[in-house]
Amino acid sequence: MSLGSMNLGRMRPLLLALLLAGCASTQPWYKGNLHTHSLWSDGDDFPESVVAWYADRDYDFVALSDHNTIADGEKWVRIDAARRPAYDVLQGRFGATSRQRGDTLEARLRTYDEYRALFERPGRFLVIKGEEITSSFERRPLHVNATNLVHFIEPQTGTSVTDVLQKTIDVVLHQRETTGQPMIPHINHPNFGWAISPEDLVPLVGERFFEVYNGHPAVHNEGDDTRPGTEAMWDRVNAERLARGLPLLLGLATDDSHNYHEMAVGKANPGRGWVRVRAAELTPAALIAALEAGDFYGSSGVELEDVRFDGRTLSLDIEERPGVAYETVFVGARRAGADSVEVSTVFARVAGDEPSYRLRGDELFVRATVISDRPMANPYREGETGKAWVQPVQPR
Ligand SMILES: [Zn+2]
Ligand SMILES: [Zn+2]
Repeated sequence: MSLGSMNLGRMRPLLLALLLAGCASTQPWYKGNLHTHSLWSDGDDFPESVVAWYADRDYDFVALSDHNTIADGEKWVRIDAARRPAYDVLQGRFGATSRQRGDTLEARLRTYDEYRALFERPGRFLVIKGEEITSSFERRPLHVNATNLVHFIEPQTGTSVTDVLQKTIDVVLHQRETTGQPMIPHINHPNFGWAISPEDLVPLVGERFFEVYNGHPAVHNEGDDTRPGTEAMWDRVNAERLARGLPLLLGLATDDSHNYHEMAVGKANPGRGWVRVRAAELTPAALIAALEAGDFYGSSGVELEDVRFDGRTLSLDIEERPGVAYETVFVGARRAGADSVEVSTVFARVAGDEPSYRLRGDELFVRATVISDRPMANPYREGETGKAWVQPVQPR
């Protein structure tokens, strides 16, 4: 054996490790929003203009998720005085098909296939089909988004909150199975109308996602004096789900945008909540695979360069911004005795851009919320600062 080949032999594992490390760190974090509305339901702008809001900014993908529609077929909307400015913008940028009905001008909405064709660029920008399956139980609004579905899904009825949610999830997963197309249901804004309690979410089978943050002003992300906020809900639900052998729920951040003209607290505006998904490529299948693997975080203004978990230590690299300070709260659930579990345990609070937490051994799961002191440009409530929500991990 020559000296040269010996050296090469020694080099190879190190080279491989470097290459693998390089691959892991260079995989992009695609930015997207999975929950938006347009004139196909109760949003106040045309679907082209809604997609443009995201495509014109730093987003890589968006799913329009109108209530109980997948934006197909023929739909005309009246162009009254309030809608005229949006119509003029549409006409100027994308053109529009209109007709006169007596004194009223009407415009035809572009279908999903039509508006997608205007924006989608392979590897650059993705327009995913969505629907907000909008049901209720005893006047409680029960909304479940389906992302990347093929066929329209009817709102479901049932005998309880859990039953309606489960039936909705089952229909999505059944469609996934019969079409072979990856698609996911996610539970929307549990505290909207105080509709969904932690107990309602615990038994759901097949569900992996819920909205820990939603930018609509009526969703009570933070709970109230008697009802838990979405973060406390998340930990309670996951502690119970683990006890039942069910997989952990993962937390999404979304806009749930409806209002595109006046940007203000109290309006359901775009740009408040998004996900960053570390996927192999910008396709629905790759994004969904990464979401299901938990390789994503929700954000309302904090960006992460890396999230690592080696089975013992959860570490983050937070993107530095001049003058912005970060505190990361490592939180979760732990065994507190033979039969007792402590929930929403704060394991550590770490300041700075590179927080990490080494598990002690009694944790059932640990997740991280990064809190910045940077006020959001357009918060959903006064005084809100940007955050990021990292998915729960279990010790290995
Ligand atoms: Zn909703
Ligand atoms: Zn919505």
